[in-house]
Amino acid sequence: MKNKGFTTRLVHADRLLNNPQYGAVHQATSNSVLFEFSEAQDIVDVFQGKKLGHVYGRSSSGSTAALQNILNHLEGGIGAVTFATGMAAISSLMMSLFKAGDHIIVSHFLFGNTRSFTETMELLGIELTFVDVTDVQNVKKAYKANTKAVYLETIANPVTQVADLRAIGQYCQEQNALFIVDSTMTPPNMFDAKSVLASLTVSSLTKYMSGHGNVLGGSVVDTGLYDWSTFDNILDIYRGTDPSLWGLTQIRKRGLRDMGATLSPEAAHDISIGLETLVLRTNKMNDNALRIANYLQNHEKVAAVYYPGLANHPQHYLAREYFQGYGGILSFDLLDDIDPIAFLNALKLVICATHLGDTRTLALPVASTIYYESTAKQREEMGVSDNMIRMSIGIEDNDDLVADFENAFAQF
Ligand SMILES: *Cc1c(COP(=O)(O)O)cnc(C)c1O
Repeated sequence: MKNKGFTTRLVHADRLLNNPQYGAVHQATSNSVLFEFSEAQDIVDVFQGKKLGHVYGRSSSGSTAALQNILNHLEGGIGAVTFATGMAAISSLMMSLFKAGDHIIVSHFLFGNTRSFTETMELLGIELTFVDVTDVQNVKKAYKANTKAVYLETIANPVTQVADLRAIGQYCQEQNALFIVDSTMTPPNMFDAKSVLASLTVSSLTKYMSGHGNVLGGSVVDTGLYDWSTFDNILDIYRGTDPSLWGLTQIRKRGLRDMGATLSPEAAHDISIGLETLVLRTNKMNDNALRIANYLQNHEKVAAVYYPGLANHPQHYLAREYFQGYGGILSFDLLDDIDPIAFLNALKLVICATHLGDTRTLALPVASTIYYESTAKQREEMGVSDNMIRMSIGIEDNDDLVADFENAFAQF
């Protein structure tokens, strides 16, 4: 399959990687929590990692293993672990790899709940420095002797800042720091995490990957680029003969098994079905988003538009280099005298909802919802204005989206 195109590999991955029974093209959902061993020595060998197999549904099942194989294949990694949600993936990853006294450089522009989780990390004694990751110089300035990792998102939400990905990846490699990239906004058909030297990618499968707003999930993929034999937080018990497996083993055991945020077999199956149309969906969203961004940018009632596909976006040059398409998220500021709440009520096709990567176009007022817990100063630092609206552009016919905006703007 290696020399085939991305979509071809994607739609045939379940069949070819997972060998479903009876010639099925999907791996069947297997919801057994327990697994029988007719030879008792086998359960011992599986427990001790000497043989592959499933022992208990919290740690693994045929359904999660099948999805992990597909995700890993798409990223070109050496292994994947799935979780119940994106936040479960992020929190389990962080808690299983880092400890009090470690220092992590973290993007200033983070998904709100990740930002909130960093406060828990600080309470547990992990030291964090928040930096503007659109320029590698800020990462260099924050680097210290106890720095273990850099953590960032490819395209930030809601203001769409793009990280200086390759330069930061190179710097992490020089310093032998882990480079952890949340690539939720840019699924693997849009972004090659290995090309920017990411060590681990994290993704909310709830968003673009599954795409239909019907299932929650998260994943961590190890790209194979980091040398775990140099990472001193790996516990002795997880230092097996092959050091490339150490990181994922510890995330799997300490993160997934012990913290227990397991993806259900049914959810794993739903995600793998949604995934099959990833390229069709994201191509259409990216195309719609670029057109809506241009439409809004030229509208007299809009003060500013934030979208990496616009030539005047401060990191447009980075987005053009790293991504195939510019994503489905765009935000805009209405003129001061237009109330964002009233404007959202005037949109009829666009759904007022928090979520993103859905097939339907969604919008929400930013400052009063996802940034409600932040102070005015924090909002200003993140570039969030009081009358900002965030859009997640769907796959509708573009003319219908423009007509909905035209109709709404006409009321102000
Ligand atoms: C939604 C999101 C998450 C969290 O994922 P859930 O599946 O909602 O838990 C993490 N990071 C980013 C960038 C997200 O957009």
